[in-house]
Amino acid sequence: MRIYTEKDIERFWMKVDVRGPDDCWDWLACTFAKGYGKFSLGRDRIPASIAAYEITNGPANGLFVCHSCDRPVCCNPRHLWLGTNLDNQRDAASKGRGPTPPRGNFRAILTEQDVLWIVQNMLPNMTNVAIGQMYGVSHSTISALRRGKTWSNITGLGA
Ligand SMILES: [Zn+2]
Repeated sequence: MRIYTEKDIERFWMKVDVRGPDDCWDWLACTFAKGYGKFSLGRDRIPASIAAYEITNGPANGLFVCHSCDRPVCCNPRHLWLGTNLDNQRDAASKGRGPTPPRGNFRAILTEQDVLWIVQNMLPNMTNVAIGQMYGVSHSTISALRRGKTWSNITGLGA
């Protein structure tokens, strides 16, 4: 696990264009080829979005730090969420950068794990519409999760 000293954290935020809570906060210094900010931590060079996530929430534990805004340069912790590689691929697919996930069948799109993930990690930080777009389901489906419906009684809903 990476250690961020107070100096590291101060140095980090000085390189970020911090704006309003919902705006994108762009990295102002060097970036990696794919557009992710490049932050030096000790001898490591790590993506700035991972540093932003870890400084705010604690270790990412090897999971992917995904962008709800789809902008690699962004370091707003509210636009960052932790996903597995599969989540990352699905996210890319829902944004037209990969194979399209199946549509029309709610269960085929959201697995039980997805639902748990959404309820625990995404509902507190994101709108129904944004989560729905990410998973390729309607915002009313996400809203059902938000109203506390359990997996077993939301499976009847269409996507
Ligand atoms: Zn953003």
